[in-house]
Amino acid sequence: MPRPIEAGVDLAALRHNYLLARRHAARGGHAAKAWAVVKANAYGHGLLRAAAALGDVADGFALLDIDEAVRLRQAGIRQPILLLEGFFTAADLAACSEHQLSVVIHCLDQLQMLRQARLSRRLPIYLKLNSGMNRLGLVARQLPAAREHLTVLLGDGDGDGGLTLMTHFAEADADGGEACIRWQLERFARMLDGWPQAASLPVSLANSAAILRYPSTARDWVRPGIMLYGGSPFASEDAESLGLRPVMTLRSRILAVQDIAAGERVGYGGTFVATRPTRVGIVACGYADGYPRHAPGGTPIVVDGRRTQTLGRVSMDMLACDLTDLPAAGVGSPVVLWGEGMPADAVATAAGTISYELFCALARRVPVRAV
Ligand SMILES: *Cc1c(COP(=O)(O)O)cnc(C)c1O
Repeated sequence: MPRPIEAGVDLAALRHNYLLARRHAARGGHAAKAWAVVKANAYGHGLLRAAAALGDVADGFALLDIDEAVRLRQAGIRQPILLLEGFFTAADLAACSEHQLSVVIHCLDQLQMLRQARLSRRLPIYLKLNSGMNRLGLVARQLPAAREHLTVLLGDGDGDGGLTLMTHFAEADADGGEACIRWQLERFARMLDGWPQAASLPVSLANSAAILRYPSTARDWVRPGIMLYGGSPFASEDAESLGLRPVMTLRSRILAVQDIAAGERVGYGGTFVATRPTRVGIVACGYADGYPRHAPGGTPIVVDGRRTQTLGRVSMDMLACDLTDLPAAGVGSPVVLWGEGMPADAVATAAGTISYELFCALARRVPVRAV
């Protein structure tokens, strides 16, 4: 018998969430297409699995790693594939060209490399502007040089889909993030002031949070990530109320039960002290499976379909939960760590993180089964 832990990935839910993202984007009045963001192994859900599930509906796939992009091509994905950080060295450009990858250009060095490479085929370019996130992107004073490079690279063909303008919002997920979005949009527009042709170029701005809360920012292409996987980008709004369905469900079972007296302690450091006679269920799941070690005692967990809470510290391969009020539960009872019936966002909040991190951290040793 393998350990009873397993992550189920609900492919129908993934498709549902993708189509929901596109419907939300359409509220903005643009016929926005949607990049399915599948970076970080599709946020831990499995790149090829996610791509296969979305293969006939997604307008395109966005990720970071060139090898992963090549794997998508080899798996038969014909849609556009966007490299969200572009290429890293000139040596990457041959693969980009061979596999017709679209590239984010976020700095002048990349444009220099592109010019020197003299590729036989033009790569579709997403020109990333830094509108205030201050992570990646060109700033206003670099735009004249960028345009000069682009003129050489694209000739007068920048209006034929070869060039898209892009930026990224820093606070779309925050309550009151609207002011920051407005400010970034103004800066974005100002950066393009002396570039009349820019007005006719396609634009890509919105991540999940912006798609859901500010559909007017959904322009030609949106870039949903976390919402595809059923996570809410907002601390104050849960996924279910947004119409999102959980995709990953991390399941395990109770593998032992300890009946302890008041005053006994549980786990490393004895951080849980029983205040009454307590039935402690030991779950076959620990931080080496990707469950956050920082989830404190009291983190919600579902046993036998009923919600209870964890007790004490998370170990490498196990964690403890309270079965005192679940007398029917015992060895072998099914446990949901997150997913169906136990929102990942609730676990993430308890652990002081976000569902993105839980999904991405799912360990390789956990078998994944598509359902
Ligand atoms: C990861 C990423 C996204 C997706 O963000 P979510 O918050 O997961 O929707 C969109 N755009 C860029 C540039 C990204 O890196």
